Amino acid sequence: MYCRNCGENIGLKHECSNCHTLAGDGNQYCPHCGSKVSAWASKCPHCNTSFIAEEVLEARELNGHSKLGMALLAFFLGGWGIHCFVMGEPKKGMLRIILTLACGIGSIVALIDMVLIIIGRYEYNPEGYLW
Ligand SMILES: [Zn+2]
Ligand SMILES: [Zn+2]
Repeated sequence: MYCRNCGENIGLKHECSNCHTLAGDGNQYCPHCGSKVSAWASKCPHCNTSFIAEEVLEARELNGHSKLGMALLAFFLGGWGIHCFVMGEPKKGMLRIILTLACGIGSIVALIDMVLIIIGRYEYNPEGYLW
């Protein structure tokens, strides 16, 4: 496998000899094919290897927050981006406030958030603005 931190081929070693990162740690490279991947990707766009176990993925989806709690927040206070701020996505939160103040569609975006949260398609992404 490849080092997820620097992309070095580390074979079956448990630590990268190049950067001393433990095997599996890091988020820059695919462990299967060594391709550079985006830090928040949950699987490799080149070889389709999933980087994280399903249950970890599920927890990471809402940055560890409960589905029900986030869906309720999105429903009641979504126009003010509260669910985004709670999950640690300030950029998304700001955009929803701007949309609410500028044209009143922040709560529509938040309703879409709520649906995505409920069906498990919401993706925690602190760098994202819309989704
Ligand atoms: Zn390394
Ligand atoms: Zn790959």
